[in-house]
Amino acid sequence: MPVVRLDHETDFDGWRAAARSLRQQGVEPQHVVWTVDGATDLFSPAPPRADEGSAPSGVSEPAPPPASLSPPGEGGFRVPKPFVDLAGQVIRHRSDERFDLLYRLLWRLQETPELMHLLSDADISRAGHFARDVSRAVHKMKAFVRFRLVQDADGEAYVAWFEPAHRVTEATAPFFMKRFANMRFSILTPDVCVHWDLNTLAATPGADPADAPREDALEDYWKTYYASTFNPARLKVAVMRKEMPKRYWRNLPEAALIPDLIAQAEARTSDMVRAAPTEPSRRVVKAAVRNSRDAPWDGQAPTSLEEIAAGVDHCRRCDLWRDATRGVPGEGPRRAKLMFVGEQPGDREDLAGLPFVGPAGQVFDRALAAAGVPRAETWVTNAVKHFKHELAGKRRIHKTPNAGEVAACRWWLDAERRIVRPRVIVALGATAGLAVFGKPTPVATSRGEAFQLPDQARGVVTWHPAFLLRLPDEKARTQAYDAFVEDLKFAWRLVA
Ligand code: SF4
Repeated sequence: MPVVRLDHETDFDGWRAAARSLRQQGVEPQHVVWTVDGATDLFSPAPPRADEGSAPSGVSEPAPPPASLSPPGEGGFRVPKPFVDLAGQVIRHRSDERFDLLYRLLWRLQETPELMHLLSDADISRAGHFARDVSRAVHKMKAFVRFRLVQDADGEAYVAWFEPAHRVTEATAPFFMKRFANMRFSILTPDVCVHWDLNTLAATPGADPADAPREDALEDYWKTYYASTFNPARLKVAVMRKEMPKRYWRNLPEAALIPDLIAQAEARTSDMVRAAPTEPSRRVVKAAVRNSRDAPWDGQAPTSLEEIAAGVDHCRRCDLWRDATRGVPGEGPRRAKLMFVGEQPGDREDLAGLPFVGPAGQVFDRALAAAGVPRAETWVTNAVKHFKHELAGKRRIHKTPNAGEVAACRWWLDAERRIVRPRVIVALGATAGLAVFGKPTPVATSRGEAFQLPDQARGVVTWHPAFLLRLPDEKARTQAYDAFVEDLKFAWRLVA
């Protein structure tokens, strides 16, 4: 029985060379034993070795081109690129099953070329599950690495200790290198450590938590910043726990603050709703009023998100301001790559002055978490910035904005698009579709496609989360929710 010994846990080149050789010799998956021979320099993997006498021949051939496990032609075979991409992800999973699983898939691909499309197949489903775990681990590493300042012989450097859920350190290191190009840093993990010295990214064997500094002078600043940016109105404890699993807490300085912030959230939210909105500066109000009330349609456009925020609150371009508490501007980072456009603020949003914080916002947050889309990295806004409603007793019942109101409010949406410049814009529902695409865009027949927009962004349309809440039938609701999550994933892939 061939025993393949790979050089290290993520030795993809080694696995690929051995798998190609084994497959060409017709060695069936159940007759191969895959094992790992200890860690080496992960950035320079050596060829794989197999035990003498049981080794498939050719295991040390040079690696083939990325989308192929062998040159085409006599005795050769090709596999689809999606399989090679999937294998590159799966190999980073901590499961001992991964090498077997990948070789089994490779073997079956020769008999069933369409295998990658059979999503209900148990092996494909398992590999997809592993790949999603790995992708989540990459995302968590990008979000939860915390550097601490140290002094060494060359001056200031930053060191972080991190325990990734899967073996993603080498794959994620280039992200930190690009982001902190001017900062010498080391990320220490139990699997491998990576070091950036401003010129070269190097890897060394795994470390121990004791090798990393526990605190630094910047920690108090970071905690203060975190507490000041914590928005109690946006708190969803279940979503937060999912996004920030407890396994990461012990290495996060801000984790110590979280229990208190959660305990105080309800009272702070009530205070925010009761409180008058924060007054913008006089300069911002002046510019916003000039643009919104007096300027013609093609007058001077707002030049900052602050001007937009102040402007929508003073806007009189249509009559919707009369019955609303306030204008609700968009929210998110200025350079978000993904923009979501809903229909209009609801009752809760009108009170809080924030988009998507009511019941539909909760569905939206849950779906974003399920799709692996961090809301904090997106711009979330509405086609119409004031709450249109009618009274039914004491209740304010939502009314759909008409085409004239949507057209009037495009002034603000277009300004947000110009300033944020997202790569992808997702219209949530038909009203948002009208605002984003400038023409009626039926959701049911337009979902799942990316449309080119004049501002170079790509436009996608899907359901509005409130539509999911209104579906009377549980089964239809579940199906629509699943489709919604798929649409969010699609949009996030477009961004990437
Ligand atoms: S809904 Fe839009 S256009 Fe109408 S008043 Fe409000 S901000 Fe202005």
